[in-house]
Amino acid sequence: MEQVSASLEVNNQSEGFARDLAAIEALNLPRAGAIPLNAARKPRLSLLDYDLPELTELVKELGFPAFRAKQIWGWLYQNFAVEYSEMSNVPKALLQKLAELAPLAPLEVVIEKVAGDGQTRKVLFRLADGAEIESVLMLYPDRATVCVSTQAGCAMGCTFCATGQLGLFRNLQAGEIVQQVLHFERYLSYIPDPSAMGHKRVSNLVFMGMGEPLANYVNLWKSIRRFHDPVGLNMGARKMTVSTVGLVPMIRRFAEEDLPVNLAISLHAANDTLRSSMLPVNNRFPVADLIQACRDYIDKSNRRVSFEYTLVEGQNDSPAAARELGRLLHGMLCHVNLIPMNPVPGSKQRGSTGEQVKAFQAELDQFGIPNSVRFEKGRDIQAACGQLKVEKDATELKRAAKVARDNSNNG
Ligand code: SAH
Ligand code: SF4
Repeated sequence: MEQVSASLEVNNQSEGFARDLAAIEALNLPRAGAIPLNAARKPRLSLLDYDLPELTELVKELGFPAFRAKQIWGWLYQNFAVEYSEMSNVPKALLQKLAELAPLAPLEVVIEKVAGDGQTRKVLFRLADGAEIESVLMLYPDRATVCVSTQAGCAMGCTFCATGQLGLFRNLQAGEIVQQVLHFERYLSYIPDPSAMGHKRVSNLVFMGMGEPLANYVNLWKSIRRFHDPVGLNMGARKMTVSTVGLVPMIRRFAEEDLPVNLAISLHAANDTLRSSMLPVNNRFPVADLIQACRDYIDKSNRRVSFEYTLVEGQNDSPAAARELGRLLHGMLCHVNLIPMNPVPGSKQRGSTGEQVKAFQAELDQFGIPNSVRFEKGRDIQAACGQLKVEKDATELKRAAKVARDNSNNG
């Protein structure tokens, strides 16, 4: 048993990898009052944290034949079981032992909001230790995309981002990333809903929810492999996109991985002064290093990089800023996604107007940079990352302040 649990913690990559990982994880500074990640409080492993070889090992150690692991795997990733009791063809004695060691631990839904068009569903989940995360299902005629979180909160502190305001609570386990998608697989498979546009399965994934995916690199890749697994969810690597704030050493690692998962870079500014004022992590990995890592990634993978550019009124949306971006990216195999900033509760920053966005696009066109404007789906349900959680926390604070006021008035 010892061995199986240990293998979940260890990755077998090179020493250089361990060094890069340690340097990046050092950026994961927890916010004050975050859930301390000492051994005693570490979230308990769930069965969803096991990959198939690990599960097979566990089943054999418990004295049952290997094929039982495959049966359980099917229940998890083809039938989307939420309870062990559903696994009707698996011996009860095995299920009981497994339940003691590793619960299935489906995520608890705290808030579920559906946008006016019925095609965007945003969920705030509570994890076993009380941390809260968000995921969104976005339905389009040709695809059903889930946006997943990789951390509870985020340590990177980008000024225009609701999750950045929260700070970091902790990294998610691989199973907690996988569970977010299973939640929506269950909804699409089992709940007949006319607004689901006939979708029965999740087809695409974007790692653009709460948190910085490359700051939780090991669990990120564990979850990607689970989504890709042909006897699991069987999702093509090209149907998945990982978005990063620009953690250069991990972008270089990403380029070495065997699965051609798409890479999106949150650029938002083309020079260091502006970028550092919006994304503090730019002080550590400046624009030139980031762009060089992207160029190397393109050379190695022959794949296009997407650059995300959130347009914040009066900050990074001038025609001059667009020209600077055009010069920086000219000739690269890339695409720029322009995203007018979504409002963040408590922030004075605003998204650029339609006119400003058009003028910005026109400048980029002059440089021949492929680009498009992405209006976030579900603005009416705070669909951008972290907004639901920030709004909920603000409401709870107000409520607590009112109770305190009422108490002192009464006393
Ligand atoms: N941490 C990763 C992924 C999560 S954020 C990253 O930063 O890339 C996903 C995307 O949403 C990023 O491009 C981020 O810059 C953008 N974003 C964050 N807050 C936003 C807001 N208020 N309006 C529009 N885009 C926002
Ligand atoms: Fe973190 Fe991304 Fe938000 Fe920046 S934009 S604070 S990296 S989640």
